[in-house]
Amino acid sequence: MVIPDHYAVMGNPIAHSKSPQIHTMFAYQTNQNLIYTPILVEVGKFEEAITVFHNQGGKGLNITIPFKNQAWSLMDKCSSEAQRAKAVNTIAIKEDGSLFGYNTDGIGLVRDLTQNHGKRISGQRLLLLGAGGAASGVIEALLSEKPSHLAVINRTSAKAIELAARFSPFGTIIGGGHELLENNSFDLIINATASSLHGEVPQLPPRILNPNSWVYDMMYGNESTAFIKWGQIQGAEHCLDGLGMLVEQAAESFFIWRKIRPNTAPIITQLRLKQRDRLLTIGE
Ligand code: NDP
Repeated sequence: MVIPDHYAVMGNPIAHSKSPQIHTMFAYQTNQNLIYTPILVEVGKFEEAITVFHNQGGKGLNITIPFKNQAWSLMDKCSSEAQRAKAVNTIAIKEDGSLFGYNTDGIGLVRDLTQNHGKRISGQRLLLLGAGGAASGVIEALLSEKPSHLAVINRTSAKAIELAARFSPFGTIIGGGHELLENNSFDLIINATASSLHGEVPQLPPRILNPNSWVYDMMYGNESTAFIKWGQIQGAEHCLDGLGMLVEQAAESFFIWRKIRPNTAPIITQLRLKQRDRLLTIGE
């Protein structure tokens, strides 16, 4: 029997992660001999956890909250996207043991919006809420779609200002605090804060949406997130969660590791059906 290659996702918390399920479905679909496991890593022990995984022959890792920035600082080499984002969500462990970091969040978000949902980004007024690892990972990909402008707003405004300065060579971008939102409306608002994890919504002024606006929460769950509910109450045309982004960024990681691209549509459908079944079960 050929021993399967080992991949894993590291984060804290990790029990909620759908990545093991998604990569197992990809492997089955594409006939790849691999296993993919979740690894809960204590804060302060991330570097050690990577070394242990590497010594055990692990081939690749996904990295999630709160280690993406630390992962970037530990890489031997990074893709240009990961280097500019200063955040790594995918690690390939090379034959010689060196670590190569990538960031697939941006491509995952843009593919979900444009290919899965048919949303045009070019010429649109975009608002990105948050300035953490997820936000920094998607800015370059969003700007490459040529929106009319991108505003990055964060509770701690200095972080948004720094991101806007860092990514200004790639398009029209401004960063700051919530005062930037007064008397402005947007065609697409993307929530890249962790607020939905706590059932909260970032503070937003009224009239920030028009009837054709879309809202997108990177967070996903079995039930609508607080941000999705907010978008529905405000009358957004479409309110989307981050499940499609999760599958698309995973597909890009899978491609980096295995050089084969899984078909994401049936996987997203299967996960949505499982979500619905779980809700029905809970409702009974
Ligand atoms: P980080 O911890 O790096 O950043 C968190 C961000 O959220 C910061 O900007 C922080 O602001 C802000 N924030 C936290 N709580 C609140 C609140 N109550 N109100 C307003 N702002 C708040 O996390 P990540 O950037 O890595 O992840 C953010 C979210 O994106 C998570 O929910 C994660 O699950 C999701 N995600 C989804 C992906 C997908 O594929 N669907 C991929 C990656 C992330 P401040 O700087 O002021 O602290």
